[in-house]
Amino acid sequence: MDYLSCFSKAVEKLHDEDRYRQFAEIERDASMFPLARLHRQDGSERTITVWCSNDYLGMGRNPDVIAAMSETATRSGVGAGGTRNISGNSHAITQLEQEIAALHGKERALVFSSGWISNLAGISTIASLLPDCLILSDALNHNSMIEGIRRAGCERQVFRHNDVAHLESLLAAQPRERAKLVVFESLYSMDGDIAPVREIACVAKAYGALTYIDEVHAVGLYGATGAGICERNGVADMIDIIEGTLAKGFGTMGGYISAHATIIDAVRSYAPSFIFTTSLAPPIAAAARKSIQICRENNILRERHQRQASAVKTTLAAAGLNVMANDSHIVPVLIGDARLCREATDMLLEQHDIYIQPINYPTVAKGTERLRITPTPYHDDNQIAQLRDALVDVFRQLNLPVRAISETAMAAE
Ligand code: PLP
Repeated sequence: MDYLSCFSKAVEKLHDEDRYRQFAEIERDASMFPLARLHRQDGSERTITVWCSNDYLGMGRNPDVIAAMSETATRSGVGAGGTRNISGNSHAITQLEQEIAALHGKERALVFSSGWISNLAGISTIASLLPDCLILSDALNHNSMIEGIRRAGCERQVFRHNDVAHLESLLAAQPRERAKLVVFESLYSMDGDIAPVREIACVAKAYGALTYIDEVHAVGLYGATGAGICERNGVADMIDIIEGTLAKGFGTMGGYISAHATIIDAVRSYAPSFIFTTSLAPPIAAAARKSIQICRENNILRERHQRQASAVKTTLAAAGLNVMANDSHIVPVLIGDARLCREATDMLLEQHDIYIQPINYPTVAKGTERLRITPTPYHDDNQIAQLRDALVDVFRQLNLPVRAISETAMAAE
């Protein structure tokens, strides 16, 4: 058996389909966020502007969050020392879980090593503990949720994206007493669209289903205390399980679920991806807790984030770029071709020192390849203008559609 040729053929296939992933080597610098250093393979380096970080609020470089991490590292060391089963709960994780539960107004929370693992563990364990459970899953759910659903090993039905009527028809076809789990996201990160959370929760309750929501792209960013879309829409108490990440809006690392104490205790007791893996290190837990505390009180940061995101949208749209409309902080710009998407991002980096990752299949459907731009509160108006000029220049070079810049846009400069 020629093992190596199997691997190289698999990788060649990705090249042929323009899906081979290349990662830029970036050195983040807390003192100049959202600027960073790009390291090249030839050993050279230069300063670039990052426009694709999911550290949406720049909390990863917040001085108080950094201080919480370094103080805890100095006091407790850097590692967790084992699984919680073997080494116990670190004080920092217990405090973090209390903070998360309070954030979402739930009885308890459980922290995992990432948001991806939270979904795998949360969905699979909850569904597999319910006899003959049917999972109803939104068609655009994230890979981590799909993996959780697969692992649950129970029946699954997919409802059309954000289509409450379709969900209701699937629920109505089931016996009322059958266990059902409705699994969906509050904010879908590739299109930036927001789910009708209240309507989904109402329909689920009407047919006796449990609800599990992924708020990964909303926690820290939406709601009066940054608890997400459920808080903003006043429906947190209608949702049974709220899942989130500590790695995006909160700028650190790890993920969690929050829910009724009994549900959390069951997941804690049965999920292999919780039991058999080393827990989050105390310095990370302390930093995450500090970040949540800051976000709970910092509406100004949230407001500035929304302001800069909408400034990017209006500036790019006025310049004739194909900005995909949505009501969130995500700014997707449609390209519609994998090779052109990759070329555009290469040119933005090489010619304009602007870093945006191309988003290609399978992350999005073929023909909808795009640039996914994520403004932060720290991108200023000059940087937004530079981004616009760079995109227009690159789109023109690649013969991608750019409508003529309108007089209003010119006057707005
Ligand atoms: N859920 C959604 C909707 C995501 O987009 C992601 C990652 O991007 C995750 C979960 C995983 O979160 P984490 O990056 O913390 O593993």
